[in-house]
Amino acid sequence: MNKKSIKDVCVKGKRCLVRVDFNVPMKDGVITDETRINGALPTIKYLIDNGAKVILCSHMGKPHNILTEGFGLTKKEKKAVEALPAEEQAAAKAEYLKKALNDKKKFTLKPVAIRLAEKLGQPVAFAEDLVGESADAVVSALKDGEVCLLENTRFMAGEEKRDEALCKKLASYCDIYVNDAFGTAHRSHATTAAIAEYGFVDTAVCGFLIEKELSVMADALENPVHPFVAILGGAKVADKLKVISNLLEKCDTLIIGGGMAFTFLKAKGFEVGASLVDNEQIDYCKDMMKKAEDLGKKLILPVDCVCAKSFPNPIDAEIETIVCGENIPADYMGLDIGAKSAETFANEVKSAKTVIWNGPMGVFENPTLAKGTIAVAKALADTEGTTIIGGGDSAAAVTQLGFADKMSHISTGGGASLELFEGKKLPGIECLNNK
Ligand code: AMP
Repeated sequence: MNKKSIKDVCVKGKRCLVRVDFNVPMKDGVITDETRINGALPTIKYLIDNGAKVILCSHMGKPHNILTEGFGLTKKEKKAVEALPAEEQAAAKAEYLKKALNDKKKFTLKPVAIRLAEKLGQPVAFAEDLVGESADAVVSALKDGEVCLLENTRFMAGEEKRDEALCKKLASYCDIYVNDAFGTAHRSHATTAAIAEYGFVDTAVCGFLIEKELSVMADALENPVHPFVAILGGAKVADKLKVISNLLEKCDTLIIGGGMAFTFLKAKGFEVGASLVDNEQIDYCKDMMKKAEDLGKKLILPVDCVCAKSFPNPIDAEIETIVCGENIPADYMGLDIGAKSAETFANEVKSAKTVIWNGPMGVFENPTLAKGTIAVAKALADTEGTTIIGGGDSAAAVTQLGFADKMSHISTGGGASLELFEGKKLPGIECLNNK
């Protein structure tokens, strides 16, 4: 990798603003999955051990946009309020403010600061704001080897708008900007990229998590050990157009399952019944099949599917299914790959030396429709080659099934890894200093 990491700079006595991904799932104020906190620990510990002043920041969830300049209403809300009769405006405004305050409680990073302190075995000072009185005080009191966490970056409207004043203020808190939030490396926000892009900090480097994610995934894409098999699934073809095209150039075999497969099957002339189909992408799918043929690559689609008359509702409801070949009756929809397809996919995976996987093979949230996804996960677990899971649903499936430690790498960023598979440059990485 040609970007500098924290090991390439002297951090002793330096104030390091570290963008991490602490966007952990929470239920009633309790963290339900600590993977992301754990992912940031190596960088944080290294900085502590090397005498840096560690200033952490992260987003959490999608708080209501009202948390803008001093709790003002957003433009849209202001308009909505002004459109109301005068006597109703005060109540409507109060309602928006209440929602904002609720979100402030719901999306605060304070529980993360408490849990992080337990994990580190040392205090983590918490600032009640990202920039402002509390952050000023917390940051200026920080001594070498100490850690603080600033409040949710998305409580400031300027975060997503790449506000210059916000970046400047944050830059005044630090000597070194460290990005270790791989999960948001594909976003160009104030704390994920703009602070370094604007040149407000001279030293901008990555942490160990980003370094690891990039070295594993970029290496697999650029110098794969062959045979290289890529597996794509999930709902929409449109989301993965460029990924399909780019992966076809890199891999030997591209397997397509999940809801995406039906647009390809329809493009091949099969009847897909009521399955998920993106009619606008039929020509694209034809182009991709032609591209695979021209490049001499294998593009493998399901040959059988598990079908039902309707989508399960609720998603884990018991459901009656039938198995069809490539043609599906008009009143049925394909919701998982069938056993024959699962076996073919698994055999391809088992003989591969490099495998990357993104997207489930079916509606895996339903036990009856999870078999295809489980079969693929199991094949990856049994493979001796390098296995890379591109975050999101496939990562969740592998972890739930207990196969996590059998994979070479499970990415912490679904969106970011998809953009890497697309061959895109990630703003959160591009903005860092070159070696
Ligand atoms: P994505 O976000 O594109 O990776 O899609 C993930 C979602 O695709 C999961 O929630 C699955 O339930 C859904 N999915 C997978 N296969 C199908 C299918 N055959 N029909 C409809 N949805 C599907």
